[in-house]
Amino acid sequence: MSKDFYNATGFYEFVGEKKLMGTKCKSCGELFVPPRPVCSACHSEEMEWVEMSGKGKLEAFTVTLYGPTRMVEAGYDAKNPYCVGVVRLDEGPAISAQIFGLDLTKPEAIKIGTPMGLTFIERTEGEKKNTYIGFEAT
Ligand SMILES: [Zn+2]
Repeated sequence: MSKDFYNATGFYEFVGEKKLMGTKCKSCGELFVPPRPVCSACHSEEMEWVEMSGKGKLEAFTVTLYGPTRMVEAGYDAKNPYCVGVVRLDEGPAISAQIFGLDLTKPEAIKIGTPMGLTFIERTEGEKKNTYIGFEAT
């Protein structure tokens, strides 16, 4: 595969294809999601793309009532808040994304460690259709 490690483009191209990809260090096996071009463990630049299972656990979250413009335009507000969280993937790395399937009217009842599964969000923004990763409580 020839997608570029050296900027985020390759990663988001994969997201557009509904794949969550990381890079794995060919030298020491360390895994990075989002991808990195250089291994922070052994400084090797020999990386390969690997696809993640998309399964993980909720590690941290925040419920937002007053979001940025693009979230307001997507229909979120104080009466319809959204959740962004950090999911620790079964493969090890943690990634932040929008979280679905939780009762946001009772954030105090949301449990850290809730099993999560990967989902994809398609949002029309201006003229463009963008795909984002998200996670849903399973
Ligand atoms: Zn390494």
